[in-house]
Amino acid sequence: MANDTEILEKLSKGLDYDPVALRKKYDYERDRRLKKEGSEQYLEVSEELARFENDDPYVEEEIVRDPLDVDIDVAIIGAGFSGIMTGARLSGKGISNFRIFDAASDFGGTWYWNRYPGAQCDVESYCYLPLLEETGYMPKEKYSFAPEIYEHTQRIAKHFDLYPRAVFQTRITEVRWDEDNQYWQVSTNRGDDVRAKFVIQGTGPLSRPKLPGIPGLENFKGHTFHTCRWDYDYTGGDHEGNLHKLADKKVAIIGTGSTAIQCVPYLGETAEQLYVFQRTPSSVDLRGNKPTDENWFKAQKPGWQRERRANFSSVLLGEPVAEDLVQDGWTDIANRVGVALMTRSEDDGELDISEMLLRGELADFGKMNEVRARVDSIVESDETAEKLKPWYRQFCKRPTFNDLYLPTFNRPNVKLVDTTETQGVERITEKGLVAGGEEYEVDCIIFATGFEATSEPRRRVDFDTIGRGGQSLYDHWVDGFRTLHGIMSHGFPNWFTIGINQNGLSPNFTAMFDDLAIHISYVINEVQSGENSVFELTADAEQAWVSEVIETTNVMRNQFMAQCTPGFFNHEGSKENLQNLPYGPGINAFNAVLQAWREDGSLKGLQLS
Ligand code: NDP
Repeated sequence: MANDTEILEKLSKGLDYDPVALRKKYDYERDRRLKKEGSEQYLEVSEELARFENDDPYVEEEIVRDPLDVDIDVAIIGAGFSGIMTGARLSGKGISNFRIFDAASDFGGTWYWNRYPGAQCDVESYCYLPLLEETGYMPKEKYSFAPEIYEHTQRIAKHFDLYPRAVFQTRITEVRWDEDNQYWQVSTNRGDDVRAKFVIQGTGPLSRPKLPGIPGLENFKGHTFHTCRWDYDYTGGDHEGNLHKLADKKVAIIGTGSTAIQCVPYLGETAEQLYVFQRTPSSVDLRGNKPTDENWFKAQKPGWQRERRANFSSVLLGEPVAEDLVQDGWTDIANRVGVALMTRSEDDGELDISEMLLRGELADFGKMNEVRARVDSIVESDETAEKLKPWYRQFCKRPTFNDLYLPTFNRPNVKLVDTTETQGVERITEKGLVAGGEEYEVDCIIFATGFEATSEPRRRVDFDTIGRGGQSLYDHWVDGFRTLHGIMSHGFPNWFTIGINQNGLSPNFTAMFDDLAIHISYVINEVQSGENSVFELTADAEQAWVSEVIETTNVMRNQFMAQCTPGFFNHEGSKENLQNLPYGPGINAFNAVLQAWREDGSLKGLQLS
């Protein structure tokens, strides 16, 4: 039987590149980026670094209020899309005695905090902005910028009358199950005494910023901030740029992920000098945004948005669809790989899985060759262009789409500082940053270094949840997530979480949040309308779901990720705990599981008392 390399050589006849050499190049680049510290290379924003999370540069007015002393049905923690969607879906069930808590001053979650210049969603607005049909809103463009998305969160909140239930500028400090009284005691930094029958934690997968553990970080005497707390007082300007206060400043930005790709052009436009510290280049493809065609939008039939979202997920999962409705950069690569997987050469007999996968790999190589060629066609300096080329497969990291990023490197005041050799910035000094043995003196360092998205569960939130018998949720999850459907856990009665583990993950996060919100409001309504008031997930049901998640894990995805250059998508290249992954068959299959569970009507796996 032919081995992979032999099949690859057979399939590569007629290609204008050598796939075997390309594969070796990818392996080489991955290996030199593997950092022995794994996820531990990042610093948690606590203690002296807490200001990176706690400072709110967007507060217009401090809320002054007395501590709450209330009994409520539901405490929703987090006023981002998961909290908003849950509030909306609870309202739809006639449940109104709830509060939504958030440290921010308004609804929005990630879109409240991420106001950096150029912030935009790279999932098309017709899929990403939820409840378009219900709110009657037509997005301005195919890809919405942050202010429009932020505004839409407020539109939904108004539409479902969520403002009277919002408790802003309030940080949760602990959530504790009161065994005697059978409610959750929710404590806050404002001394609130909130007793809630149910708790829903929707704190968001991208809410806690993280910092790189670069030696000397605390020594820097200049200005610093994380992109999710953009300091417009310091930079001047607004979301559209014109960061005029940087005209006499030397600025460093660390990181070149999805966030940096969007804000670097605006920094380059105004800073006296911009240094972009890169460890791994992103894949930057064409954005090609366009205004919404009003006629097309108005012609959509009821139910179109749900159908479009499912179509998008199907295309990304390689499921057969009659038509790719979204047709963008995401679906382009998925389609190409999908077609390649299904193609058989004329002399093929049996469908050979290895050959199928290799065809997919070749389609991926082709796509990434285009991405790299695009760098050459835009960036004038050959040396810089070479450094900006990503040497890994598409989807190893979140692909980006931007028309302004690459041309920024043609500006004389912008310098790309590649830090691959030292696996990141070497040191931070009082005056600046050291890379390649050279010190770059700067006035300001901006951290575009991402979020605690896939780190240990305990690091992803800044408060503890204490269930039955005084057990911390994070002790219960010490060996990995333990849930039913990613949302309920044994020992934590009347409690839900909305996250990205053990459920149907999609790059279109809002679709996933909405599906979970529908499900959670169903469960609460069922429990509330019966004779009982408390549900608890049984240990057996929890174990069964954990086992199902492990057994149905997407082996191909896991093998793919193991070969990828490190990042938070693959746990920085260290071995992944299968228990922490999303439901392998994907979001559409996951929704079918939820729907069947609801249709069964018996609240299977829950014990009521
Ligand atoms: P990421 O985690 O994607 O990127 C962090 C960056 O910091 C990487 O380039 C990383 O390099 C770099 N870095 C980390 N440590 C060091 C170091 N010691 N020295 C030098 N560089 C370092 O964060 P983002 O904020 O860019 O994106 C996070 C997520 O937010 C995205 O995946 C996406 O889900 C979401 N997002 C979505 C957008 C959208 O359009 N919908 C837009 C923006 C963000 P390396 O790659 O080598 O680890």
